[in-house]
Amino acid sequence: VREAGGDSILSLSKSSHAALNRKSIVEKRLLQALDQKNLHVLYQPQVDVKSGKIIAVEALVRWDDEEIGVVSPDELIPIAEETGLINNIGSLMLERACEQAVAWKNAGHELKVSINSSVREFRDKNMAKSILETLERTGCPANLLQIEITEKFALEAEAEKGIIKQMRTLENEGIVFALDDFGTGYGSFRYMQLLPISIVKIDQTFTRALKSEKTQQLVNGMVQLGKSMNLTVVAEGVETEDQQQLLTNFGCDIVQGYYISKPVKSSEVSDLI
Ligand code: C2E
Ligand code: CA
Ligand code: CA
Ligand code: CA
Repeated sequence: VREAGGDSILSLSKSSHAALNRKSIVEKRLLQALDQKNLHVLYQPQVDVKSGKIIAVEALVRWDDEEIGVVSPDELIPIAEETGLINNIGSLMLERACEQAVAWKNAGHELKVSINSSVREFRDKNMAKSILETLERTGCPANLLQIEITEKFALEAEAEKGIIKQMRTLENEGIVFALDDFGTGYGSFRYMQLLPISIVKIDQTFTRALKSEKTQQLVNGMVQLGKSMNLTVVAEGVETEDQQQLLTNFGCDIVQGYYISKPVKSSEVSDLI
């Protein structure tokens, strides 16, 4: 066995160098992809448990670059947030989502489309205004748009009045906010009172752990908390019939996950509705 010491320091600096390098390559390719609108959207259905119908879809970004291949959202989004390109991704996703909501509406389906937003997008003082302009330009009714924010977003928004103000403006226009990753942070309850949130999404880590009775009790409690605050409760990451059954028994309003459907192209959603 070789002594670590100097070797591990060397390999650490090597790997952080590689990470930096990768980041700058992704950033460079992303600039071009945005320029050519080479990012795509998949939609994951959300089913209302009472009616069994798809009532909403979550828009998720996809990127398969011709030079660097598929870049997953888990890699892409943090880099985009750091470089500020998240604002460009956000506007592209918003535009696509609105156009798609209008297309479904014209085909007779009032499906809500839910987009994911990063806090950095809301630091732009014109965020609310530009969302409303996009709705107007695409002809998308405000009540068909939902915006998912994470607990991380909520934590930062708490200290920035401008962000809450923009959320309120949008809420007054009929746009609905959902708190993603519900239960993973420490401040869920506080955010639910402070921010104009109408939906909570129980994080998929809880759904995955439902075999444990402790988790079942915890999730049941989370659902009751949401309901007591008059919020719509969505469970995500539903992969099995058993999970869906349990979550339905607890009183979840909406389920989302591979058991119902993976994220799919808009045309495939059209086949499902
Ligand atoms: P998220 O918002 O929590 O989205 C749910 C993620 O779980 C998606 O991963 C989805 O494909 C995956 N998923 C859905 N159902 C299941 C299931 O039953 N089992 C499992 N194992 N996974 C499931 P995805 O598309 O890779 O996105 C990862 C994260 O990247 C998202 O997590 C979201 O935070 C972020 N993201 C994706 N698109 C955007 C975007 O356009 N803007 C921003 N700001 N963030 C985005
Ligand atoms: Ca989400
Ligand atoms: Ca989520
Ligand atoms: Ca998540």
